[in-house]
Amino acid sequence: LRQSLDKTRRNIVNQLKSIVGQGPLNQAAVTEIEALLLQADVGVEATDYIISTLQNKLRQEVLPAEEAIAYLKQILRDMLDAPVKKSNKPIFVPEKETLNVWLITGVNGAGKTTTIGKIAHLAQKSGYKCLIGAADTFRAAAVEQVRIWGERSGVQVIFNPAKNADPAAVVFDAISAATARETELLLVDTAGRLQNKKNLMDELSKIRRIIDKKAPNAKIESLLVLDATLGQNGLRQAEVFSQAAQLSGVVLTKLDSTAKGGVALAVVQQLGLPIRFIGAGEGIEDLRPFSSYEFVEALLN
Ligand code: GDP
Repeated sequence: LRQSLDKTRRNIVNQLKSIVGQGPLNQAAVTEIEALLLQADVGVEATDYIISTLQNKLRQEVLPAEEAIAYLKQILRDMLDAPVKKSNKPIFVPEKETLNVWLITGVNGAGKTTTIGKIAHLAQKSGYKCLIGAADTFRAAAVEQVRIWGERSGVQVIFNPAKNADPAAVVFDAISAATARETELLLVDTAGRLQNKKNLMDELSKIRRIIDKKAPNAKIESLLVLDATLGQNGLRQAEVFSQAAQLSGVVLTKLDSTAKGGVALAVVQQLGLPIRFIGAGEGIEDLRPFSSYEFVEALLN
C-alpha cells in the first residue's frame, strides 16, 4: 500500500509533514497546507475541515512536530471511519453461510471487471463459496472479460451469450444458481453507461427488485468502483450513481498510478460512503480491504 501511494506521498505529503512539524500555524502555513491538500485532490470541503480542526488544536496547545503529525493522522482516520461507524461494520467481509449479493457499479473503464475478478479471487481464497453474474450485457466484450477473470480466479460466471440479453434475467439466473449451490458471495457486474441516467436507474432498480423477490434474505451491498486518477472529476460520476443505485460503499481503483490519493478523503466527506477496497495494480492480488489506519500510515509515514 505504501508503494501504491508513493506518487501522492512524494508530491505532497512530505511537504505537508515539514510544515505541520514547525509548530503553531501562521497564515502562510495554512495557505501552504491548503494548496497541498487541494493538489492531492482532497477537495475544498474536506480540506477546510482538516485545516480548521488542526488549527483549533494548535491554537489551544503548542504541539511538538511529532505530536502535530499524530494529531493530523487522527483527524484523517476519524474522517475516513465516520461512515463506517454509522453502519457499524468496521471490517468489510461477506457474512458466512448466507447469500451476500454485491452489485458492482461504475462507469466503463473505472476498473469494474478487474475489481470483480480481484474480489472473487480474494473471497475464494478466504473460503467463501463465490459466483459471478455477468449482467453488463450491453457490451459484448464485458461478458467476455468477466469470463476471463472468472477463469483466473476459479469462480464460475453465470452469463447469457445473447447480445443485449436482459440484465435482470441474468441476475435471476445467477440467483437461482447461487441458491442451488449455497453460494455465499454473488458478485454482479452491471452496465456503466452514464450517458443515460434514466436507463441506468431503471436497470439497477429492476435488478434490485429481482434480488429482493428471489432472495429476500440476501445481504445486498452496492459498491461503486471509482477511478482515483480522475480525482475530483470522479466525484461527479459518483453523484449520478448514488442517485441511481443506493450505494453502500466505494472501491477506489488505480491508486498506484496517481498523485491524487487524497481523493479518498473527498469521497468519504462528500458522499458519506465508506471506502471498502483499494485497487493498487492490474494483477489479481492487487486489491486490499480498506483500513483507515493502514491508509493514513501509508500516506503520512
Ligand atoms: P471496466 O470497464 O470498469 O470493467 O474496467 P476494467 O476492469 O476493464 O479496467 C480498465 C483498465 O484499468 C484496465 O486496463 C485495467 O487493467 C486497469 N485497472 C483496473 N484496476 C486498476 C488498478 O487498481 N490499478 C491500475 N494501475 N490499473 C487498473
